[in-house]
Order: sequence, then C-alpha cells, then structure tokens
Amino acid sequence: MITVDCREAEHLMQDMAVFVSDWIGAIPSIKLHEFVLSPLGSEMLAAPKIIKAVKEFFASIGETANYGILSKDDLILIKSIHDGPIQKTPRTESIFSCTHCGYVTRYEVLLQNHMKMHYIF
Ligand SMILES: [Zn+2]
Repeated sequence: MITVDCREAEHLMQDMAVFVSDWIGAIPSIKLHEFVLSPLGSEMLAAPKIIKAVKEFFASIGETANYGILSKDDLILIKSIHDGPIQKTPRTESIFSCTHCGYVTRYEVLLQNHMKMHYIF
C-alpha cells in the first residue's frame, strides 16, 4: 500500500485519487488529507509508477508548475510550490459530471478520462 499525502492540494485530492488509481490500476481509499492505494491483484505497487501518474495528473489539469512531488518509502507527498494560497485568475467555476455514474469534477479533461472507463467493457 502506498499513501499519497495531499494536505497541500486537498481540493485536488478526489480527482487525483481517481485519476491515479485508473492510471496504475489500483484501489484508492480516501482519507481526510490523503489517499491510500492498494493493489488490485497480488502485484506490489511501485512508487515511481505512482509518481509518474501524479505528474500526468498535474499535467492534464495544467498545474505542473504549482506542485512538487516528494517520496519516501511508501509515502508520496504533494508539495505546493508557492507559499500560501495559489493565486488563480478568477474564472467561473464549471462542474462536469458523468451521465453514467454521477462522478463530478471541475476539470473537463478528467471527465473525459473518466468517461473512457465506461466504454472499456
Ligand atoms: Zn462515470
């Protein structure tokens, strides 16, 4: 099991957990400030693979420059690069939701990614 500590990116945690677990094929369990990934089968989860998935997640939502990723043993820590709250240009909050299962995200790219899951079977 690998823990991803998201206390510096809590607003992204839900989306990140879904994206990362889809990407690497793991089961996420979401806690207050972190999520824990457990392997689907007997295969061990490798931290470098998860870090790659987290980077892919930040890239897909255009946040690569704002977060760093540290890892130690079975813990992956998301670090906000800027001190204090990140200044964002105000924009209207849009919500994208999945018509199949009700999954909700603020990022269209994540919804598209999520939707693919429904068409696999
Ligand atoms: Zn869905």
